[in-house]
Amino acid sequence: MAVIAQKKKKAKRASVYANVTAQFNKAADIMELDADIRRILSKPNNEIIVNFPVKMDDGRIEMFSGYRVQHNNALGPYKGGLRFHPAVDIDEVRALATWMTWKSAIAYIPYGGAKGGIQMEPSKYSSEELEKITRRFTFALGNNIGPEYDIPAPDVNTNSQIMAWILDTFLSTMPPHERQRCIHVVTGKPIESGGSLGRDKATGQGVVFTIEEWTKDNNFGLKGATYIVQGFGNVGSWAARLLKPHGSILTAAEDITGAILNSKGIDPEKLTEHVWESGGVANYPDAEPICHETFMRTKADIFIPAALENQITKETAPFLDVRLVAEGANGPTDPNGDSILQSMGIDVIPDILCNAGGVIVSYFEWLQNKRSEFWELEEVDNKMYKKIVTAYKRVRDTAKKYNTDWRTAAYIAALSHLETVYKERGIFP
Ligand code: GLU
Repeated sequence: MAVIAQKKKKAKRASVYANVTAQFNKAADIMELDADIRRILSKPNNEIIVNFPVKMDDGRIEMFSGYRVQHNNALGPYKGGLRFHPAVDIDEVRALATWMTWKSAIAYIPYGGAKGGIQMEPSKYSSEELEKITRRFTFALGNNIGPEYDIPAPDVNTNSQIMAWILDTFLSTMPPHERQRCIHVVTGKPIESGGSLGRDKATGQGVVFTIEEWTKDNNFGLKGATYIVQGFGNVGSWAARLLKPHGSILTAAEDITGAILNSKGIDPEKLTEHVWESGGVANYPDAEPICHETFMRTKADIFIPAALENQITKETAPFLDVRLVAEGANGPTDPNGDSILQSMGIDVIPDILCNAGGVIVSYFEWLQNKRSEFWELEEVDNKMYKKIVTAYKRVRDTAKKYNTDWRTAAYIAALSHLETVYKERGIFP
């Protein structure tokens, strides 16, 4: 038998961009989006792939592939995070960039959409190697990013330290007299290096603000309500910690290291410390280990997916026994999963609304940098609350007006804003 025939077929990963396209087409049909504008928005403006070498600690040279997709900049500079993950590829980055365009449009912040990343497993590298990889990637991107053009931020497996390295590399390659006015080339920076108070918790805080709005609409009390969280990185752990003061009870959590359950409650603060020390939720002492399916079947009031795409699918959606899915992650539900959630009567606060707190506070950080200001935490939180609640109401009203699901309504709200801008401005030449 030929060797090739013996080789196990590698499972093809579902296209994340196909999900975006399906969601976009559904909304565009319902709202009767102008055909020309539909054509424009159905393709990203620019797609940049850079392959670059980095010298490892042992002297070996390794090659890396980095991506930046700039989907649209009709509303303002391209904006969106950078992720370091083995699943990063052009299809995923294209999808994530497109979601950023819709996210900024719904929140009425003056940004377009972009996303990028490096295909790599960051835990395999030393801190020195990570710094070199980040700096060389920034150098390779060159003027494809810039403070008034395309502004990266943290995403999966990237944090404020990585943003500080990007900032330093970008500034170091600028002419000396221009350096001081470029600090807003990235957001999500450490506070001392130009970051904003409240940015670290912003995405999780936005998730909780939208959940609070949902409870008001549904006459539902958060005190004693149970919730389960998938992904215990920045977004998941902050959402979990910020729900605790409401008296809600975290009963199960899952990440790449495993899943855990304690129906009496898991302390989100203690679990966060455990994750920081050990690298994941597995082996948390005050809970029992469970399998993925048991996690997905855990009865709770709220499920917060805060990990990667395509977690709620036609296979897993029927497992869910919750009232609300609040999407902290980008793209956790695929279109089949969506239809099943609808038929099961489970409410969804869609990603482009639910996790918009991160980019909203990024916008505040960018404004503070441009104006040489530093805002108090209360001011940041209040301003974000107003923006995300206004966006929530916009989506809720759109869902009513078109008698449609919330994801489609969120798309319609974003697309209507973009359609108006394109119609007002026209197309050059
Ligand atoms: N990566 C985050 C997101 O997906 C934040 C983006 C930003 O702050 O620019 O929304």
